[in-house]
Amino acid sequence: MVDPFETVVHADPAVIAGLDHWRTLPIKQQPQWPDSTAVAAASAELATMPPLVFAGEVDMLRDRLARAARGDAFLLQGGDCAETFAGATADQIRNRVKTILQMAVVLTYGASMPVIKMGRMAGQFAKPRSSDTETRGDVTLPAYRGDIVNGYDFTPESREADPARLVKGYHTSASTLNLIRAFTQGGFADLRMVHSWNKGFASNPANQRYEGLASEIDRAIRFMEAAGADFDELKRVEFYSSHEGLLMDYERPMTRIDSRTGTPYNTSAHFLWIGERTRDLDGAHVDFFRRIRNPIGIKLGPSTTPETMERLIDVLDPDREPGRITFITRMGSGKIRDALPPLLDAIKSFDATPLWVTDPMHGNGLTTPTGYKTRRFDDVVDEVKGFFEAHRDAGTHPGGIHVELTGDDVTECLGGSEMIDEATLATRYESLCDPRLNHMQSLELSFLVAEELSKAPRR
Ligand code: PEP
Ligand code: MN
Repeated sequence: MVDPFETVVHADPAVIAGLDHWRTLPIKQQPQWPDSTAVAAASAELATMPPLVFAGEVDMLRDRLARAARGDAFLLQGGDCAETFAGATADQIRNRVKTILQMAVVLTYGASMPVIKMGRMAGQFAKPRSSDTETRGDVTLPAYRGDIVNGYDFTPESREADPARLVKGYHTSASTLNLIRAFTQGGFADLRMVHSWNKGFASNPANQRYEGLASEIDRAIRFMEAAGADFDELKRVEFYSSHEGLLMDYERPMTRIDSRTGTPYNTSAHFLWIGERTRDLDGAHVDFFRRIRNPIGIKLGPSTTPETMERLIDVLDPDREPGRITFITRMGSGKIRDALPPLLDAIKSFDATPLWVTDPMHGNGLTTPTGYKTRRFDDVVDEVKGFFEAHRDAGTHPGGIHVELTGDDVTECLGGSEMIDEATLATRYESLCDPRLNHMQSLELSFLVAEELSKAPRR
């Protein structure tokens, strides 16, 4: 057997130098740190910290995503728009993990398809903003860029970018990921616990429907056990971490050379995506992320042309490796039926197998007259349907869904079978950034996706 630690392969110096090439390129969405010495010291400290993920896990994920890209699996990626340090509590992490596990069961059972489970968790702390500043009354301050940069409170002290937050972001990611690993490896995620994930959530139509499905799964497992099947496989689940690769003073020091292969891996998460605002072909982010081995997501908005898509593939997936890139389309419910088909058409004549995932959240934002940033559940559902329709027409695989969700009973998105209306938004609106589906809306959505997925043609 080969011991992966036996041979230490050293990276080519040119590879290491390449990891800093982004510094010479135009870059967007970075904070103005008041003290460059302090930020350099924080980055240097991060560079000495243990990796959060192991390169072997990253490779396994790339393999799983390759299956999804080929049509044999489905990616479920979900979590907060912006995690917060205060929100990294056992209860909130558990509720999110439970919600994702429940959704995954609905999808796996409903569509008979392996589901890759991935949190927007354990590192989703940095946010791109549409404006560098925020004005309230006659006061203008720097915009909130996520807990890893500055504070949400609207005071000059809190809004100043603070490099100590980079290190706190690392430690909060580590403790979150530790609990996720404990839950998913230690018996909590055992498929025989399928009922218990529903406990503690209010009784509602989605949870009742889930209970029915959980009973069917239970019966099937009991039958197989009685028939002598050995179910070690059911005890543990693979659960991957992901976040937007945005804040370079964090992502660069978390990138390490893998001693087995000499190649760079970003060890802050298994999967990183490049946002709609930072995916410029000649910009810093694309240059940096093309050099690391992790699977990379790229958000594609409604103005994406086939030419841009093809150039992104050339740069980020020159070897045309299934599992390497995931296109996360976020078109908006009114646009997806026009914006996605030309991309799917173009991909057929282009020698690449990206994984296609729908983000039905970011193209469907609206602000209520009372000032709440929200989304309509119906628009989310409609974009998901448009995504599946476009793939059915094109004969390509609708390979996953990327959602902003929480396991808590918040009131941030309008509609769903609880029929949250504009007046109700104020009762429990907790997001500091974009509105999330609550527990019940998330489950409801998973039933709908399972139906769509089971209609999708199998190859
Ligand atoms: C996000 O995922 O929270 C986000 C900002 O998305 P996008 O880059 O698609 O706008
Ligand atoms: Mn968001």
